Amino acid sequence: MKYIYDLMPEELNLNPGYRNQQVWNALQDGKTIDEITNIPNSLKNELKLEYDCNLPRIVNELQSKDGTRKFLLEFADRSLIECVLLQQDYGNTICVSTQVGCRMGCKFCASGADGIVRDLTCGEILAQVILVNKIQHVTNIVLMGSGEPFDNYDNVVKFFRLVNSAGGLNISMRNISVSTCGIVPKIKDFADLQIGVNLCVSLHAPNDTVRRRIMPIANRYSVSQILDAARYFFDKTHRRVIFEYSLIAGINDKIEHAKELSKLIKGFPNHVNLILVNTFNNEFRQDKSSAMVFMDTLIKNGTSCTMRRSRGGDIDGACGQLRLRSMHTHD
Ligand code: SAH
Repeated sequence: MKYIYDLMPEELNLNPGYRNQQVWNALQDGKTIDEITNIPNSLKNELKLEYDCNLPRIVNELQSKDGTRKFLLEFADRSLIECVLLQQDYGNTICVSTQVGCRMGCKFCASGADGIVRDLTCGEILAQVILVNKIQHVTNIVLMGSGEPFDNYDNVVKFFRLVNSAGGLNISMRNISVSTCGIVPKIKDFADLQIGVNLCVSLHAPNDTVRRRIMPIANRYSVSQILDAARYFFDKTHRRVIFEYSLIAGINDKIEHAKELSKLIKGFPNHVNLILVNTFNNEFRQDKSSAMVFMDTLIKNGTSCTMRRSRGGDIDGACGQLRLRSMHTHD
């Protein structure tokens, strides 16, 4: 059965035509079909026969000391995914998943530890936002949950169109950020779309040798190809690129790495988001003092950067901690 949240208003194809927007808007509000009061019962029944009209079920919710909330959600096929709501001064950011599991296999990330199960559809990505928005108003979206967004490119792009449509959640493209581990051809396609969504690139290393140790995708695309794609994105969109860099003790956090990184990304507007690696196994450690030296070195070399506070670590809701295994222990 087709998932109703996958559709744009006109794709509902209802008669009379004004029903499309009426039904669609109500669904975006988080109403169930039965809760839509201004349509006839016959139409409700038709819709329920033709489509899966259910938002995912909340299987579990955890709340961190810092206010971060993590939701474990189940879709009709019993697939489980997580999304996280972060409260910030400027609003509430939802971090959504784009795939069940992930095939990228970054060594420091739990989301891909068991490989991929399947892509989420655009409606399944949207449904996370609709559902959480009912609980707490969502103002910003980051595609940084489990999954590699650009490995599910078409669904992710349609998700942007859905979430941005009039009468829907109407979250502006500037308030949305997508993060990729660096799938170069898709970064270029995405730049060509010029839709105003922010691009984050998980770089985590200043050269191919270091990157290949921690990210298998580095065997497909080189750091220099990624930089070309990032520059291309800026040229096309005039939006600065965010580079994510998780500091891992002894692996990518030395002074020479910082110097090399500054040199590598010089010459076009960008920003480095540093974060201390969250440990999910014992292989990778944090080293706060090298992290401080790393950041100082970037600043001295003229690189715009900030150290992000990790949020939700106590509920395994922080970067790289979303995974199915933790779910099983909670349900
Ligand atoms: N697949 C996309 C989306 C994931 S976003 C991507 O790779 O960009 C999540 C961010 O958290 C990415 O930058 C990812 O590299 C980072 N991350 C993953 N595991 C982490 C960990 N254990 N500690 C800190 N950051 C981590």
